[in-house]
Amino acid sequence: RKNSTLICAPLMGDSVDRMLIDMNKAKSSGADLVEVRLDSLKSFDPRKDIEILIKRCPLPTLFTYRPKWEGGLYDGDENSRLDALRLAMELGADYIDVELQAAQEFNSFMNGKKHGNCKVIVSNHNYQNTPSAEDLGNLVAIIQAAGADIVKIATTALDITDVARVFQITVHSQVRGVPIIAMVMGERGLMSRILCPKFGGYLTFGTLESGVVSAPGQPTIDALVNLYNFRQIGPDTKVFGIIGKPVSHSKSPILYNEAFKQVGFDGVYMHLLVDDVAKFFETYSSTDFAGFSCTIPHKEAALKCSHEVHPVAKSIGAVNCMIRKSSDGKLFGCNTDYVGAITAIEDALRGAGHANGTTGSPLAGKLFVVIGAGGAGKALAYGAKERGARVVIANRTYERAKEIADTIGGDALSLADLNDFHPEDGMILANTTSIGMQPKVDETPISKRALNSYALVFDAVYTPKITRLLREAEESGAKIVTGVEMFIGQAYEQFERFTGLPAPRELFKKIMAKY
Ligand code: NAP
Repeated sequence: RKNSTLICAPLMGDSVDRMLIDMNKAKSSGADLVEVRLDSLKSFDPRKDIEILIKRCPLPTLFTYRPKWEGGLYDGDENSRLDALRLAMELGADYIDVELQAAQEFNSFMNGKKHGNCKVIVSNHNYQNTPSAEDLGNLVAIIQAAGADIVKIATTALDITDVARVFQITVHSQVRGVPIIAMVMGERGLMSRILCPKFGGYLTFGTLESGVVSAPGQPTIDALVNLYNFRQIGPDTKVFGIIGKPVSHSKSPILYNEAFKQVGFDGVYMHLLVDDVAKFFETYSSTDFAGFSCTIPHKEAALKCSHEVHPVAKSIGAVNCMIRKSSDGKLFGCNTDYVGAITAIEDALRGAGHANGTTGSPLAGKLFVVIGAGGAGKALAYGAKERGARVVIANRTYERAKEIADTIGGDALSLADLNDFHPEDGMILANTTSIGMQPKVDETPISKRALNSYALVFDAVYTPKITRLLREAEESGAKIVTGVEMFIGQAYEQFERFTGLPAPRELFKKIMAKY
């Protein structure tokens, strides 16, 4: 374990029995303590219930009795609420949480007395936004002055860059020896919950079940411990992630974190919900933020933000992978989409005995038809051309196909003419449109009859793995290559660029086989 940051499981059960069950689950999931949210209990007999909850808890306890006015469920009078917290302290709770607004009243309620080793967390929740660094600094000072043993601030992320100010406050507090819990709520704040051990946060919250949260954006304990490898995150851990919008569907964090673990690389990879790519890189400019995958709709913006761009990515007009050079912090942008797909197609051709001589690409001289003229289409057309194929681009919007054909040196076709296009046999076909993707799995970009002219058919769509196009191609006797292979192939290269280490290929295949 490389850090002392705790994982706290918030318990939101509506009965004491439910909470007792959840406490044990929290322990077996790997949590360090539980937060008993007294305000979630439907019926509550303070002395009896608190005593049972403390006595029977297999982990240290934090008692919180959140009132409606601070985003909780408790709607009763303030005296009974503060009295329950006092009781928790007296009966042996390890921590209690008192809202900043109630701190003064609580202190006078307690007459300056404290019980045992109970630590008081004084908390403040902002459900609107994340204030400026200066305002946050002032807030921490006020919370400290209110008698906090531990400061807690939770703000709301309107933009992912809001998290940077909270990291700054966390580091600053740690340097001054003030224990701090600092969270940014919402999907855009996810980083704050995963990276607190890197910046010295006192604890983070992890839920028992996904979706059952006490505040927006909380990951599960399982994800923290097993996916993000939370216990191994330290000050030197490099940060990686996938930049997109939307982004939460991406399987990349599963792939990269597992691979980092296997090769012993000190990095963590997460979903980064980014609205403005330029602002993101202006804010996160340190070498700690070491590498990024870029997906829809940010591949063009990523190119603009790269200080240096690989010539292939420049030709394609899209960057899907960025690496920050540790020497000068500059961003290098490249495109691994095309290598992934082209390599998978070449491997399949070689396997199928279509190799063209002993050296060089089996694509050399072949007629390569690309359907689609978007980012993936451009990448495939460029890659095929680079390997010596003759390229034809077929697109719904003919002008876009023509534009690419003119740039790379190829021919353009309207998608409507594709069914009657069979100048020769043994052609290669690559679908790069979303036709056939879930949920419209009955669609296909080309008639089954026309597939007879193709020796190999590739589909960039990877949900489902076997699309209607691939099924019909196989029935027509063509070799097929799936979008999953493209996905894995582009990930190998990104991994090697991120870590400087060879990608654990078998592991990648094993992980993707599960999805
Ligand atoms: P994009 O830039 O938005 O391009 C979409 C292309 O699809 C355009 O050429 C568009 O034609 C065409 N298109 C969309 N809907 C169509 C329809 N109903 N009928 C005919 N043509 C249609 O998207 P992209 O980034 O290139 O991605 C395209 C696909 O590739 C997506 O399904 C994506 O998931 C997949 N992909 C897979 C991987 C992988 O690793 N397997 C990697 C990248 C992308 P117009 O020009 O006429 O609009």
